[in-house]
Amino acid sequence: MKGELRYEGKAKKVFATDRPDEYVVEYKDDATAFNAQKRGTVAGKGAVNNAITAALYPRLEAAGVPTHFLERLSDREQRVRAVEIVPVEVVVRNVAAGSFSKRLGLTEGAPLARPVVEYYYKSDVLGDPLINDDTAVVMGWASEEDLATIRTLALRVRDFLTPFFEERGVQLVDFKLEFGKTPGGQIVLADEISPDTCRFWDARTGEKLDKDRFRRDLGGVEDAYQEMLRRVLGEPAGA
Ligand code: UDP
Repeated sequence: MKGELRYEGKAKKVFATDRPDEYVVEYKDDATAFNAQKRGTVAGKGAVNNAITAALYPRLEAAGVPTHFLERLSDREQRVRAVEIVPVEVVVRNVAAGSFSKRLGLTEGAPLARPVVEYYYKSDVLGDPLINDDTAVVMGWASEEDLATIRTLALRVRDFLTPFFEERGVQLVDFKLEFGKTPGGQIVLADEISPDTCRFWDARTGEKLDKDRFRRDLGGVEDAYQEMLRRVLGEPAGA
């Protein structure tokens, strides 16, 4: 049922299937950072990211966020709806960290009075520059209506995930989403939600349980990914 390779990204491959409206996504162990200037592999990462995404997307659907996810097929593969990816990466922040801290001179961990939604143009050549909604519209990447939907859905994802992780002893600092458009014109959450695309800090110790361990050479990358999978699959602690 897995057909020709349609697209190969840094961490995933997308295959056509015998159905024009479905793809198979294969998660790889390859890791990149700083616009692919840093490369490596994280053993077991593909399986962890596949499992975490497969656990979260049906819950997000139930919380009112339409997604491309259909079914986890194997350790590394999932079946998804075929969508055209909107070339705008959507970052939602609960707490200052990473590029936001750097750009604004804020300490990492500084709380934000309300969530911040940012847009970046998805372009390896340009290094994913920060944009605003006018830019996305004028460049034809998304309509004003699409962006309004995307913002609403991104905040809905945040409102679901923040307590979900809190109940599992994890502070959701920030995360990146990608949306796609179905042939029928519906905006749906696509891509993945995983330690590759979120900042997760242990709520008690502040320990980083995400890709920053790879980006910043902190060691214990594999263990952090496995720990996040355990937390996601585990029962919530009485919040
Ligand atoms: N992020 C991502 N892909 C990117 C850029 C960022 O998944 O190409 C995620 C990142 O893991 C973090 C959030 O988006 O959870 C915000 O990242 P930031 O803008 O702070 O960039 P960074 O400091 O990672 O370069």
